[in-house]
Amino acid sequence: MARAVKDFCPIINASDDVRYPIGTLQRRGGTARHDAVAWGLARVVSARGVDIIQNCEVIGIRREGGEITGVETVKGFIGARKVAIVTAGHSSVMADMVGLRLPIESHPL
Ligand SMILES: Cc1cc2nc3c(=O)[nH]c(=O)nc-3n(C[C@H](O)[C@H](O)[C@H](O)COP(=O)(O)OP(=O)(O)OC[C@H]3O[C@@H](n4cnc5c(N)ncnc54)[C@H](O)[C@@H]3O)c2cc1C
Repeated sequence: MARAVKDFCPIINASDDVRYPIGTLQRRGGTARHDAVAWGLARVVSARGVDIIQNCEVIGIRREGGEITGVETVKGFIGARKVAIVTAGHSSVMADMVGLRLPIESHPL
């Protein structure tokens, strides 16, 4: 694969001793402004009835009798029968709030 990448883009360092070895070539890939993508998604879900509460850190997940009843946040308690964790690199931190150890390790880039 590194050979194909080098043929595609001759100036790239495709040697074996680079810090992050090249493993993929995505010919249809492009670049997008990250915040524009996030705001675009936010607008769509908001228009479909999802409440987005900004600057509202979850600091705990409340359980009663083995069932999740909601999340504790810096702005107060939010009741919920189901909670989804979508916090990327902080997923292990969140899962730890209910005593779950995820089989992943996060590393800051
Ligand atoms: C420098 C950099 C460059 C990248 N470049 C690319 C690229 O070119 N192409 C590409 O495809 N991907 C790229 N990525 C990866 C891509 O940005 C991520 O995979 C993607 O944003 C993950 O989306 P997500 O919604 O899962 O998590 P995120 O976008 O990280 O969202 C997680 C959210 O959870 C919030 N959160 C965390 N803890 C809590 C808490 N306790 N309470 C409340 N909220 C919390 C965070 O504030 C954040 O808003 C890049 C990542 C980085 C860091």
